[in-house]
Amino acid sequence: MSLEQRRVLIAGGGPVGLLSALLLGRQGLPVRLFDVNESPQADPRAATTHPATLDLLAEDGLADEMARVGLVAPIFQFWDRPSGEKIAEFDHAILQHDTHHPFVVQCEQLKTAKLILERVRKLRNIEVLFGHEVLDITQTHGSISVDVRGPDGIKTHAGAYLIGADGGRSVVRKQSDIAFDGFTWPERFIVLTTPFDFEAARGLCFRSYFADPDEWCNCFKVSADGSPGLWRTVFPVNPDLSEGALMSDAAVQERMQKFFSASQPYEIVHRNLYVTHQRVAATFRKGRVLLAGDSAHVNNPIGGMGLNGGIQDAANLADKLAPVLLAGAPDALLDLYSLQRRTVATEYVQEQSITNKKRLEARDPEMRRRNHEELREIASDPSRARQFLLRTSMIASQRRVAAMTLAEA
Ligand SMILES: Cc1cc2nc3c(=O)[nH]c(=O)nc-3n(C[C@H](O)[C@H](O)[C@H](O)COP(=O)(O)OP(=O)(O)OC[C@H]3O[C@@H](n4cnc5c(N)ncnc54)[C@H](O)[C@@H]3O)c2cc1C
Repeated sequence: MSLEQRRVLIAGGGPVGLLSALLLGRQGLPVRLFDVNESPQADPRAATTHPATLDLLAEDGLADEMARVGLVAPIFQFWDRPSGEKIAEFDHAILQHDTHHPFVVQCEQLKTAKLILERVRKLRNIEVLFGHEVLDITQTHGSISVDVRGPDGIKTHAGAYLIGADGGRSVVRKQSDIAFDGFTWPERFIVLTTPFDFEAARGLCFRSYFADPDEWCNCFKVSADGSPGLWRTVFPVNPDLSEGALMSDAAVQERMQKFFSASQPYEIVHRNLYVTHQRVAATFRKGRVLLAGDSAHVNNPIGGMGLNGGIQDAANLADKLAPVLLAGAPDALLDLYSLQRRTVATEYVQEQSITNKKRLEARDPEMRRRNHEELREIASDPSRARQFLLRTSMIASQRRVAAMTLAEA
């Protein structure tokens, strides 16, 4: 097979598609990536990057650079919103023997995408085609091709494999007839971003979770364009209200003032609404199609696990696809990719993100009391706190992946 015939096609230039391109390109494979947008997406989504993911991004200083342009957040806190009481605090320092990065880095996904793109641009074997929409897929025994609409019309591109990193509404997944079972939460999530300093005014750390039977909240800080940074607050909103009613200045101010009463109106620099799903693709591999990132799994953002899972997919997949294409390794390795990543998407990320949400929104007073008691007990017992953080920081799921073998695929 010529090097050209080994080309990997990638649909989607979000962080997962770009990282897949970088990791494969670094190993010498020709890669062609298509993204329908003209540049990486700027809306305020992922920021929280967990220790297990930072360990994967250490090569050529990427994780360090993310920490430099982002914020290092060793601690996270749980609060009870109605009483204003801090329930528990967890410090990732307890993971010092489990990871090279015993902290979270809050780095906005646009920054992460740009840092990866800078590295991609240095490799001549990677072509990044923004303004190109993947429309159609044709898979044969020996190759795969995609029809792509670009500035010069529709063209067909052929390759050895296609990675679908084209997000939750993935055309690659749909065209490949891969089911995406799960459910959609009835409530939408609103993200309101403000420069108001919750650390100075209220003593919050950079990642704070508020339980509330009426309206839970996540409040966390990002570095934005530099000091003083921005705080993002995430709340559930009534699905029966119109977007206009939810996003009006008056509604936004009322929500923020109810969260924390301030003497001045809040300056709101972004307001965004999201529909949130819990879904996992039936398989992450179908012949020459491989799914990674949101095209393979989506979850609610509480705990910040979606993109982390996607980055872990990209690293796992590159470690398998390169030897298959360059060293004649059996392509059953790609089934192992699907098995490993699908298992942890289901057993860890779906499970943990749903648990996180249920903990924050619990209504029953007895359940709320038990949740709080349990968190206090875990936080005060170093061994239990370490186990808890191994799971939330996605180290436990990476260990589960490492224990799965080809024989199981
Ligand atoms: C409010 C919110 C907060 C979040 N916070 C976190 C967090 O803190 N930590 C975390 O880990 N995750 C978080 N997430 C989840 C995270 O944003 C996603 O998991 C992440 O964006 C997935 O990356 P991706 O590259 O797979 O997909 P995307 O980022 O969606 O990128 C997909 C790309 O594919 C392109 N594309 C789509 N269709 C086509 C096509 N047909 N042809 C060509 N290109 C196409 C799009 O233009 C896009 O660039 C959050 C999500 C939300 C909504």
